[in-house]
Amino acid sequence: LASKLKDPDLFREAILIDGEWVPADSGETMDVRNPATGELVGRVPKAGTAETSRAIEAADRALASWRKVLPKERSRILRNLYDLMHAHIDDLALIMTAEQGKPISEAKGEINYAAGFIEWFSEEAKRIYGDIIPQNLEGRRLLVEKAPIGVFAAITPWNFPAAMITRKAGPGWAVGCTGVIKPASQTPFSALALGVLAERAGLPKGVCNIVTGSAGQIGGELTSNPKVRKLSFTGSTEIGAMLLEQCAPTIKKTSMELGGNAPFIVFDDADVEEAVQGALIAKYRNCGQACVAANRMLVQDGIYETFARRLAEETAKLKIGDGQEEGVILGPMIDQNAVLKVEEHIADAVAKGASVVSGGKRHALGGNFFEPTVLKDVPGDALIFSDETFGPVAPLFRFKTEEEAIALANDTPYGLASYFYARDVGRIFRVSEALEFGMVGVNEGFISTEVAPFGGVKASGLGREGSKYGADDYLEIKYIVMGGL
Ligand code: ADP
Repeated sequence: LASKLKDPDLFREAILIDGEWVPADSGETMDVRNPATGELVGRVPKAGTAETSRAIEAADRALASWRKVLPKERSRILRNLYDLMHAHIDDLALIMTAEQGKPISEAKGEINYAAGFIEWFSEEAKRIYGDIIPQNLEGRRLLVEKAPIGVFAAITPWNFPAAMITRKAGPGWAVGCTGVIKPASQTPFSALALGVLAERAGLPKGVCNIVTGSAGQIGGELTSNPKVRKLSFTGSTEIGAMLLEQCAPTIKKTSMELGGNAPFIVFDDADVEEAVQGALIAKYRNCGQACVAANRMLVQDGIYETFARRLAEETAKLKIGDGQEEGVILGPMIDQNAVLKVEEHIADAVAKGASVVSGGKRHALGGNFFEPTVLKDVPGDALIFSDETFGPVAPLFRFKTEEEAIALANDTPYGLASYFYARDVGRIFRVSEALEFGMVGVNEGFISTEVAPFGGVKASGLGREGSKYGADDYLEIKYIVMGGL
């Protein structure tokens, strides 16, 4: 891979601890494979508890000085990082496509999005305001300061290998925290390349540490070490719940961005073409491997057949292939387990009475490629209704009334993203307010942006990332009362 990069130095097969690029203590490595071809992309250190502990020590040592760096200077360094990410966008996208599979155009889109968090929080760095509270007794003054929480840990998934890091580390670094990042084992090279750029941007050693390797050991140390004051995790609800438990004894602040089961509702009064375009983005972007991906398409009776037909026609046009090829819209899935889950969901739905309108099986390209699929007349007891599919399958459920749609949409323990298409303004307000989700896209299939708060309710998580609220997760409120004045 390095030979294909304009700047081969961005490709690192080492971990970053205290400004040093090092191997695992054991010398062991893990293979990273291209999901489109199965080829070896490279090897990263298989680090564990000891390396993680040293990374935490380094972050803790760096904390004392980094938190005192003037906000304006921290802002300038982060802005450098933003500029560097843009300057190297071609290489960063190539690395991402090689290890994650998404098409180059989407990978570039993600680098833009990822850099957006760094830009946003470079600006927010200067705007972390406190308060002066009106005095409650004579001779006293009451102040509120916002202080960096301390060392943060970020554990991130493979579906968005760059953006899930910057939206944690961006606010962390901006407000004066230092951190240890553990990227997903499938996609470590995007993280390590960001580490190279973070150093070049001027982040002092120890502010950004990146450890790859055993998730259990690294996660175990990050959650149990009392020097880590905050854990931000993006991944499955199951692992999130386990990490919360592991964080309990040392009372860490946590942000959890967990699984979703997004409804995508199309009402009779919707603009069908807009709804189809929105569904293509909300369902098939990143091959359906997003926690905000539409999982259940709830379509009203009167528009059902038209929507099913038009969606199937459009999905049939999506070009599938290696993300590095020109014009490819749908890359491979991440691995065989992901393919098996999709197959299981389709087989279960069909066994319970659903019919396949388009796709429905592995793609002729073989490997991890799967056809974009539309299923019709899926019953409510199908697995795909309650379980996150994380693949390119759109199951269409039928409903008659608005009340029924809302009840179906909310019939899940999850509450991350939701989408609906309608034109009636009364309905738009009623449904937006009734949906028990952290995010609602109305006549819009693309909701993620660094300027808005991303996050879920119920089993989908805790905390918000991005926007003016995103820094709060890395700050403590400190109250100072001055008496005897
Ligand atoms: P996904 O299904 O998206 O891979 P996971 O929750 O399994 O979601 O993984 C998300 C991140 O959590 C990855 O970085 C993964 O390595 C990490 N992870 C998985 N298991 C553990 C664990 N036991 N402790 C800490 N981190 C873990």
